[in-house]
Amino acid sequence: MDGNGDVVVPTLLERLGQAIWGKDQQCGCDPSSPALGLVVRCSHCGEIIRTRVEKAYELEAEYENTNGHKLEEHEEPKPSGYTLHKEMLGSQCQQLIYVTMHFDAGRNISRRQIEGGEFVEIGDCV
Ligand SMILES: [Zn+2]
Repeated sequence: MDGNGDVVVPTLLERLGQAIWGKDQQCGCDPSSPALGLVVRCSHCGEIIRTRVEKAYELEAEYENTNGHKLEEHEEPKPSGYTLHKEMLGSQCQQLIYVTMHFDAGRNISRRQIEGGEFVEIGDCV
């Protein structure tokens, strides 16, 4: 029975280490896939909700600089910025949180808006 103590101590330290690492990588960042870690608080119940935005897939391109400029058929339009629309739902209540974020051409956040909650943290995972 006493032998169990020797086993438990390293296991706890190991778990602690994993917890620390887990906190550092809470948004599941992967350097090869630039993503955005989003943490919001539900205004209804106060729940903290985390999500991860894949910039490459979830951002919608905006084309504001094409007025007056007619694109040739072979010409690729260059986005002037990007928009993200995200609906987030916690597990404690049924309130949907609507997040709208605007990005410049370099995918940096230029404007952000939230309904039904508030931003707690926005981490750039690049
Ligand atoms: Zn809620």
